[in-house]
Amino acid sequence: MKKRVGIPRALLYYTYYPLWREFFTSLGAEVVVSSPTTKGILNQGVKKAVDEACLPVKLYYGHVMDLIGKVDYLFLPRMVSVEAKTYICPKFLGLPDMIRHNVDNLPTLIDVNINRHKNDNQLYGAVYQVGKMFSANPYNIYAAFNRAIKVQNRYETLLQQGILPFEALSVLERGDGGDKETATPQQGKDLTIALVGHPYNIYDNYISMNLIEKLKTMGAMVMTPEAVAPEVVEGEANKLPKKMFWNMGKKMVGSAFHFLNRPDVDGIIHLAAFGCGPDSFTGELVEREVRRKKTVPFLNLTIDEHTGEAGIVTRLEAFVDMIRWKAVSQ
Ligand code: SF4
Repeated sequence: MKKRVGIPRALLYYTYYPLWREFFTSLGAEVVVSSPTTKGILNQGVKKAVDEACLPVKLYYGHVMDLIGKVDYLFLPRMVSVEAKTYICPKFLGLPDMIRHNVDNLPTLIDVNINRHKNDNQLYGAVYQVGKMFSANPYNIYAAFNRAIKVQNRYETLLQQGILPFEALSVLERGDGGDKETATPQQGKDLTIALVGHPYNIYDNYISMNLIEKLKTMGAMVMTPEAVAPEVVEGEANKLPKKMFWNMGKKMVGSAFHFLNRPDVDGIIHLAAFGCGPDSFTGELVEREVRRKKTVPFLNLTIDEHTGEAGIVTRLEAFVDMIRWKAVSQ
């Protein structure tokens, strides 16, 4: 019987799921993803998590709990750094400890360290450590990882073409290799809105209250930081007087600055999570730049477990109306 590895549909799921799914399945395991977020999953997480945790971390607890009893292993890496000379938010670092101490009846945790801050030697060591749990053959482990990297690269290429993660994941599942003609999901819109925020907030339809779909229904094409090439993000973020050492914050600020320079972007929305220190900082940096340039309207939305959908819809409608009004009055 195949070993079942659980991956919570939260936090870095939206960024690295294709990589880890390919890695584990290539090693003969079955990957089980927690169910899409529901009120029940969020409530379970809120009850278990410490009060000070940000909304996405609380939600992560709920997804972990959704996998209990369904899997033999829970993949919960201790993420320290995912690219050279940057760090990830410290909340990711403590995640395996927080989960272990607050959640009962956990399956075996795969809580290997991932730290690419200095170089990739540590990453390869970590991959081998995880792979050994599923194969005794080092060649198989590294072959599985190489396959996984190729799949991840294809996923990122699709995202950079402006394809949203749900569609990119189905393209990979269909195995059509990412043909843009078969995957372009957004056409026939008269507005373009850049939605800037952490992928786990933007793409979780429950906590974002289906923001992307709502914008599309209002006639907007939605662009997100995942569509901006890393070198563009780097170049824009380097305009800050001090280098940002949070890789996700850098991506948000760099992509927001890039969207500000694009004449086809009609408005920018920054989606922040309640309880997130980095979001309040990056939101402020983006807002200052928007005010300085005075070229596009800007909306800052903060979500938490109590955010009401009606309030979000009203603000979105007002924002979109204002953009359209601005366009006709110019
Ligand atoms: S960056 Fe913000 S939202 Fe993400 S885990 Fe850290 S505190 Fe939470």
